[in-house]
Amino acid sequence: MNLKLSVSALRLPRILGKLSWRAKPSPLVQMSLALVSICGMLLVLADVLLGVFPSHRDEQLKLRKQVGEAVAVQVATLLKARDTAALQATLRDVVSRTPGVRSVALRRADGELVLKGGDHEAAWKAQSAGGASMAERIDVPMQADGRRWGNLEIAFDTDKSPWWKQLLREPLLVTMAFVGSVGLLVFSLYMRRVLQHLDPSQVIPERVQGAFDAMTEGVAVLDAQGRLLLTNRSFKALNAWAAQVRAGQALSQQEWLVSGLGPLAATHPWMRAMGERAAVSGQTLQIEPAPGQVQHLVVNASPVLDGAGRARGCLVTFSDMTALQRSNQSLREALNNLSASQEQVKHQNEELKRLATRDPMTGAFNRRAFNESWESMFASACNTRLALSVLVLDIDFFKKVNDTHGHGVGDRVIQEVAKLLQASVRPVDMVCRYGGEEFVVALPGLDAGEAQQVAERIRQAIEIQCGPAVKEVPGMRVTASIGVAQYNAEARTSTELLDQADQALYAAKKGGRNRVCAHGSAAAALAEVDG
Ligand code: GH3
Ligand code: MG
Ligand code: MG
Repeated sequence: MNLKLSVSALRLPRILGKLSWRAKPSPLVQMSLALVSICGMLLVLADVLLGVFPSHRDEQLKLRKQVGEAVAVQVATLLKARDTAALQATLRDVVSRTPGVRSVALRRADGELVLKGGDHEAAWKAQSAGGASMAERIDVPMQADGRRWGNLEIAFDTDKSPWWKQLLREPLLVTMAFVGSVGLLVFSLYMRRVLQHLDPSQVIPERVQGAFDAMTEGVAVLDAQGRLLLTNRSFKALNAWAAQVRAGQALSQQEWLVSGLGPLAATHPWMRAMGERAAVSGQTLQIEPAPGQVQHLVVNASPVLDGAGRARGCLVTFSDMTALQRSNQSLREALNNLSASQEQVKHQNEELKRLATRDPMTGAFNRRAFNESWESMFASACNTRLALSVLVLDIDFFKKVNDTHGHGVGDRVIQEVAKLLQASVRPVDMVCRYGGEEFVVALPGLDAGEAQQVAERIRQAIEIQCGPAVKEVPGMRVTASIGVAQYNAEARTSTELLDQADQALYAAKKGGRNRVCAHGSAAAALAEVDG
C-alpha cells in the first residue's frame, strides 16, 4: 500500500507537468492571475512598510504583557496592604477568568512559593523545561517596603494546534488567501466583461487592418465563441445591416444572416468550421436587403487552430455574387433571345427555300428545282445502273374546264391533282408542276413495269377522286393521261429521258386519253409513226 502510494507520488509531478503543458491557462486566466499576484505583492509591501497586518504572535504577546501588568499592579497594591486573603482570591480569579492564563503565583525572593492560582508548580516547570518564550510565561519582579520582595509568575497556555491552523490565524496570510481565491474569480469575470466591450479593432495594427481592407471580399474574424473581433471595409459595404455590426457581437445572432442560414447556430458555416476544424466553403446565401431585392452571397469559413489543433477562432469571407448572378441572368436571357431569333432565321430560310423551290399554287416542286434534282438522279442512275423512271402527266381536256367553269375551277382541279400525286408517291419520289396542267414525277429505283403500275394507280385515283373533290362543280369528271419512261441506253441525257416520257404521253393522248402509255410500247411506236 505504501509502495503504491510512493510510486503514485513519484508519478504525480510528471502527470501534473504534462497536464499543465497541455492545459495551458487561457489568456483570460493568465491576466487574472497576474492581477492577483500584483494585489498579493501590494499587500506584502503595505505590511512591510506600514505594518498593517500585525502577526498573531505579536498581538498575543502584547495582550499577555497587558494582562501581566494589570495583574502586577493589583498584586502590588494588595501586597502593600498585606491582605493575604484578597491576594489569594485575586490570583484564583485571574486564572479562572482570564483566557489563556494557566497559573499565577507569588514567589518570595528566597524562592518559596507563597501564594498561587492553578497548578502553578507543574505549569511553570513545563514552561521552563520547554524553553518557553515570553508569550508563554511572564516573570514580574515585585517590591514591598522599598525593597525587592519577590516575583509574580504567570504561566500561559501553550499553542499546540497544527502549523496550518496557526498559519490560518495570520491576518496577512488570510487576507492574501482571500484576495487570491475571490480575486481570481472576480478578476476573471470582470476581465471577461471588459474584453467583450473592448473594440479589438483599436488594438489591431493599422497595417493589418489596411491589408484586410484591401481585400475585395467581405472578411470577418471571429473568436472561438463566434463573436466578431474584426471586420474589413468590404464586409461593412455588403449592406446596411453589415455596416452596423460591432465587435463583440455573435455573428450567428445577426438576424439578416440567420434569415438565410436558419436559426440553428451549429449549422452556420463558421460554427461548423470550428466544430469540425476544417474549412467550409461555397455555402450560398440569399438575403433580402430591401423588399423585392435579393442579394446572393457565397460564404467560406476557415478555422484558426492553435498549436494543439484547437479552434481559437475563424476567418469568414463573404463574396457578393449579386452582380454576377444578374449578368448571368442577362446572359441567359440574351442566349434565349439569340436561339429564338436563330430559330426564326432558320424558319425564314426554310420558307425562302420553299418559296424558291416550290410552286405556290400546288406546293409541288417547280421546274427549276426539279431540273437540278433530275440531273443528279440521272447521273446517279448512269453511275450505279440502278433503275430510274419518270412519269409525265397531263390533265385531259383541261381547256374545256377553264372555258366551261372558269379559271378558278381550273385552278382547283390542278390543286386536287397535285394533292393526289403528292399523297400517292414515296418520300424519295419527286412531284413537279412542269407547267400549266402538266406534272412530272421522278421515281428513283423503279423500273418501267413498276413505274407503269404506279402510273396506273394514279390515273385511276384521279378519275375516281379528283372530280368529286372539286365541290364547286357537282358531278365534275377529271381524267389525266400519263407517259412512262425508264432509264435506258437510248436516252443519253436527262432531257432525252424526259422527252421519251413526253412521247409516251403523246401516245396516251393519241390513244384516247385517260390512259397510261410506256415509252417503247406498241402504242407509243404507233403514235410515233402517226405523228
Ligand atoms: P389535251 O387533252 O390535249 O391536253 O387538251 P387540253 O385542253 O388540256 O389542251 P392543252 O393542254 O393545250 O390546254 C392547256 C390549257 O391549260 C391552256 C391554258 O389556258 C390552261 N392553263 C395553263 N395554266 C393554267 C393555270 O394555271 N390555270 C388555269 N386555270 N388554266 C391554265
Ligand atoms: Mg397540256
Ligand atoms: Mg391537257
